[in-house]
Amino acid sequence: MTHGSTIVSAEAWLVDLPVETKRTDAVQAFVKQETIFVSLQTADRVGGLGYTYTIGTGGRAVLEMLRGGLLDAVVGQDAERPEAVWYAAFNSTRATTVGPITSLALAAIDTAVWDGRSRRASLPLWKLAGGSSPSVPIYDTEGGWLHLSPDELVAQARSSRDRGLPGVKIKVGLPNPHDDLARLRAVREAVGPGFHLMIDANQSLTGAEAIRRARLFDDLDIFWFEEPLPAEDVAGHERLTKATSIPVAVGESMYSVGHFRDFLQRGAASIVQVDVARIGGITPWLKVAHLAESFNVKVAPHFLMELHLSLACAIPNALYLEHIPQLRAITSTEISIRDGRAWAPDSPGLGIDWDLDALDDVRVA
Ligand SMILES: [Mg+2]
Repeated sequence: MTHGSTIVSAEAWLVDLPVETKRTDAVQAFVKQETIFVSLQTADRVGGLGYTYTIGTGGRAVLEMLRGGLLDAVVGQDAERPEAVWYAAFNSTRATTVGPITSLALAAIDTAVWDGRSRRASLPLWKLAGGSSPSVPIYDTEGGWLHLSPDELVAQARSSRDRGLPGVKIKVGLPNPHDDLARLRAVREAVGPGFHLMIDANQSLTGAEAIRRARLFDDLDIFWFEEPLPAEDVAGHERLTKATSIPVAVGESMYSVGHFRDFLQRGAASIVQVDVARIGGITPWLKVAHLAESFNVKVAPHFLMELHLSLACAIPNALYLEHIPQLRAITSTEISIRDGRAWAPDSPGLGIDWDLDALDDVRVA
């Protein structure tokens, strides 16, 4: 039966966005944001525009996944039934699940579904998805990349603090741990106590080395130690959380709700950093956030601040939003930040003010 919200057609395309500043960590550089859009048309013409991303590789595989089957699988589905749409797409490609490319592709569809739902309901996403709080604290990552000198890190951290932000993240994972320590100490001495310092090793360490470094950094009052180990090493994270008082943050490299369940059940994650694109969209993102709440664990979503802002404001256990601007070239307005907090947009839809002409100009496939 056709409802007004029945999906009648769907298309996908790829946009390349250059990074806004050089970004490096212990294992990679963020080269460009490959942004894959999905546009759904519905019988009532409300439609929906969603997106997903990579940090430079695999974007065309995601696009092919969508064009080669996932979009066809959701045509005829009711866009007011996000679970049904999500599982129609998921079940059409079970042999490639759980997998990053599939999850990223599912996210482009699912975020388009939620965009349409929010417009149809005339409610901003943060309210539609839960409506917990209109704002969330925001910390800066943009001044903590691994190639920056200690002096540059200090200047950037001071600048973030002077803008009223309550914390910054510094990349770690240099070959010599004492080089990491010297950089962190320089920043801590510059910003003083009370300011939040997060560190991020981007999965670069062994379990033993992560325990060693956590001890080395112990007097710096680190707010969280992010991705110390490869994401598949649940046991290593479990040992680390038992060995250190620094909260261990994980999630940006996890692609299924069940992966988060394993970490939470084993006490291997102190903070959850679920990424709406990598988990497969808003539908599973909310499941992870609520799962974390049931374990008394907070959520600090990874990257994609423009969309995560509304999601963090939807849930009661949001800890922090990550400040890395990346959509300025294709949007007309920026997120609102004051008093160290980001404030959720009140317009219906994903809350992202796309510049559709600019979007067209950077389309590559
Ligand atoms: Mg990270």
